[in-house]
Amino acid sequence: MPVSEVVVIGGGIAGITAALDLANHHIHVHLIEREPTIGGHMAMLDKTFPTNDCSMCILSPKMVDAYRHPKITLHTCTEVTGIKGELGNFQVQVIVHPRYIKEEDCTGCDDCVTVCPVEVYNRFDAGIGVRKAIYKAHPQVVPNIVIRDVEHCINCGLCYDVCGKNAILRDNEDGEEEAVIHAAAVIIATGYEVFDATLKSSYHYRQIPDVITSIEFERMINASGPTSGALKRLSTGDKPKNIVFIQCVGSRDCTAGSSSCSAVCCMYAIKNALLIKEKSPDTEVSVLYMDIRSYGKGYEEFYNRAIQTGVRFIRGRPGELYQNGSQVRVQVENTESQEIVKIDADLVVLSVGLRPSADTATIAERYGIPCDETGFFDSVDQKVNHLSTIRPGIFIAGTCREPMDIPDTVAEGGAAAMRAVITCLKGEHAAI
Ligand SMILES: Cc1cc2nc3c(=O)[nH]c(=O)nc-3n(C[C@H](O)[C@H](O)[C@H](O)COP(=O)(O)OP(=O)(O)OC[C@H]3O[C@@H](n4cnc5c(N)ncnc54)[C@H](O)[C@@H]3O)c2cc1C
Repeated sequence: MPVSEVVVIGGGIAGITAALDLANHHIHVHLIEREPTIGGHMAMLDKTFPTNDCSMCILSPKMVDAYRHPKITLHTCTEVTGIKGELGNFQVQVIVHPRYIKEEDCTGCDDCVTVCPVEVYNRFDAGIGVRKAIYKAHPQVVPNIVIRDVEHCINCGLCYDVCGKNAILRDNEDGEEEAVIHAAAVIIATGYEVFDATLKSSYHYRQIPDVITSIEFERMINASGPTSGALKRLSTGDKPKNIVFIQCVGSRDCTAGSSSCSAVCCMYAIKNALLIKEKSPDTEVSVLYMDIRSYGKGYEEFYNRAIQTGVRFIRGRPGELYQNGSQVRVQVENTESQEIVKIDADLVVLSVGLRPSADTATIAERYGIPCDETGFFDSVDQKVNHLSTIRPGIFIAGTCREPMDIPDTVAEGGAAAMRAVITCLKGEHAAI
């Protein structure tokens, strides 16, 4: 019996798009996500450039569609440990991590979350928010089910008592499970990580409290984030009156991170500068940049709007940051005027670049496909076959291939789905 199903690995916007496009072509999809919810980085964002549409308003219906689609089987808390076989007949080996919840019984009511007394750092809020030991990473998770974090759970028993459905499992009642999924084609859409800003030691991230990263800023300015959208200095909780964005942190920098451009940081900094001006026109906003790369449709106009709104753009890369009284001293040479500019900022936002996920090399080895010199998954070629890997029938899409914005990621997810459709219909000749 020929296999006609497709495995999509990674439930960010690339993987969701690919899964929905395949399912709408009547091909059964297994969407595999290692986190308890799908959504990826787009779920963390407040607005999206260049239209400043609400990110979750676009993403959330797609997440729900993917969950409810009769042709999509969603596997959360699941990782692929190996891919055996070949085009038309892959055996995808997966490991399912325990949730310690009976998924079919949990209604997502949050009663257990309310009574849980433990608070721990919430990775989803990128360092500025907390969650409970039994939790949802954010209110719009899909599937709408909690997860019990056994590492931090103190076994106080309050959640078991309050759960009317008896849906919470004890430590010895759940465990890892292995399975094999058969597929004609595989799409890898495992996304990116942001650059670890502690590696750029001169900016003193994690040492000076008011130096934060752009992804932390996205959570802060987000109405459903940990500060309910209020801009705050992490040192005092006060509203910042002077905010500085530093560009190319971990991008175009051979001393830390990567020599490549991360493609999205100019635009997301302009977006966030505009959002600050909308919320608080009196706040001074400066963007310290090397070059502004506003290459897409409507992007240059977006940049010009920021200039007109009073955002100050200074061409230069700052030296070492230091605490100056209650503020952060940023010193930069304006390379257009050769002036030395000194700014005492209340909040400094590091525009961190997009890097391959830490386990990309391990995954590449497990899946039998190579990485390129930047550490992202490698394509057969960069021009007409950039979604194909050296293994026929295994495709790559989105930011696991190279840094890109959401429109390009969506285009790649759809294109990879079409490649997989052709593979399922026609077999090997269509695979590359
Ligand atoms: C601060 C910031 C702001 C941004 N703002 C914008 C914006 O306004 N507009 C815009 O167009 N772009 C913006 N971007 C870029 C945008 O985030 C990306 O283009 C987009 O999210 C990429 O989606 P993706 O699906 O490729 O990857 P991801 O969103 O990273 O999704 C990958 C998914 O794969 C899962 N995964 C990873 N490894 C595995 C594994 N081994 N097994 C199973 N699952 C796995 C992850 O958990 C994740 O759910 C911004 C980026 C940053 C850093």
